Amino acid sequence: MMTGAEYIESLRRLKPELHFMGQRVESVVDHPAMRPHVNSAAATYDLATNPETAELGSAVSHLTGRRINRWTHIPQDREDLVKKVKMLRAVGQVTGTCFQRCVGMDGFISTYSVTFEMDRKHGTDYHERFKRFLVETQDADLMTAGAMTDPKGDRSKRPGEQHDPDLFVRVVERRPDGVVIRGCKLHQTGAVNSHQFLVMPGQGLVESERDYAIVCAVPVDAPGVIMVFGRQVNDSRKWEGKVDQGNPTYGVVGGEAMVIFEDVFVPNARIFMNGETDFAGLLVDRFASYHRQNYGACKSGNLDVLVGATASLAEMHGVLKAGHVRDKLAEMGHLVETMYGGALACSHECTNLGCGTAFVDPLQANVSKLNVGRYYPEVTRLAQDIAGGFIATLPSEQDLESPRVGDYIRKYYQTQEDVPAEARIKLGRLVENMTGSTPIVECMHGAGSPQAQKVVIQRQLDWGARMKMARRVAKVGGKGNP
Ligand code: SF4
Ligand code: FE
Repeated sequence: MMTGAEYIESLRRLKPELHFMGQRVESVVDHPAMRPHVNSAAATYDLATNPETAELGSAVSHLTGRRINRWTHIPQDREDLVKKVKMLRAVGQVTGTCFQRCVGMDGFISTYSVTFEMDRKHGTDYHERFKRFLVETQDADLMTAGAMTDPKGDRSKRPGEQHDPDLFVRVVERRPDGVVIRGCKLHQTGAVNSHQFLVMPGQGLVESERDYAIVCAVPVDAPGVIMVFGRQVNDSRKWEGKVDQGNPTYGVVGGEAMVIFEDVFVPNARIFMNGETDFAGLLVDRFASYHRQNYGACKSGNLDVLVGATASLAEMHGVLKAGHVRDKLAEMGHLVETMYGGALACSHECTNLGCGTAFVDPLQANVSKLNVGRYYPEVTRLAQDIAGGFIATLPSEQDLESPRVGDYIRKYYQTQEDVPAEARIKLGRLVENMTGSTPIVECMHGAGSPQAQKVVIQRQLDWGARMKMARRVAKVGGKGNP
């Protein structure tokens, strides 16, 4: 296993084609826009290698018996799923933001079981191939970006009906030794600081869409892979200083990128689905359940940090004991623990798939993610309510350094004798950073938009059974007649 520092060094050996704000980026590790996200992902390596947290951050590979980072592990039982949840909350509390490595983890977990089932039906050998790739990834302790979200073009049309067939990643050439893929994946969390991609379809497919049914692994610096790092609200603060960032070490959200596949060759050993359209929807559903399991965990860890920042500011302002503040803080705590409870519930209610992998309860997982999309913004609203308006009007850190006005800023932003203004400003910036639009949009749409969870909930609930229950209790016969 690699430590965080070794992971960071390993990124220096890669040479991806990466663009940001009109420039080519030579080193993701040394670029101030990306370094905080690199640090955040490094926390997943430190959790596994620090003896105090290794029990949570690492696992024993069911394939090799060797100790591996838990972000490369396939959960075998309920305990593994619960540990996954606890691990995400623990790292969420350290970083206060996304640590990016879970999309690849969930891609691996889902591909493992789907390749097993695909081989049983179609007589293919994807599962053995995938197992070899998995062991290599486990032993080298690689970070994988799960690449699922296609641009999708006109949402009323299927992949094959778009005005441009590349709006979904597809195979454009089949060769004896592999395939050539073309297209793009958007919003790719952790892409720029991963070692490799696991490319997957983003939705269910029909038979005529064979070229879109492709699952494969691609190194981030394979010829033809082009990445464009996305902008975030207030991102220029990352290279302006340390105070105004709010979270200078780990940044905000995942550092997402656009990933373009400009006719990329993928050898056979790295192909895990190639034309089996009947398994694309299953893979997407399974991935979604595992990733929705996570959100109640990583986001509750992040929000623990926000609750702490809010309570600290209330204390600095002398209002921590005010009844309405305590009530709102309790409300924040209630929402956070409800989110976490959902992540634990779907893990506890797991079943085992044919290949032995433990599978979360999809209904509970989707309910949990829907709660996150609703409760995260509500927790941020309460944080802003308690923190006060100063988080939106603070002068810059450059003015704090000014010989003319710096001391005035310190003087007038000081609330209590023993509270330095800088401490209040830094916490205020952290609240501003964590309650801004970027994290709220991310928790809404990451792991699928709210409507996607409602579709699963609608599908999973037994409506007929519920109607029968009501009729029996009300002593009403069939179709509402007494
Ligand atoms: Fe992991 Fe959460 Fe980030 Fe998804 S949003 S990659 S689950 S930390
Ligand atoms: Fe996410």
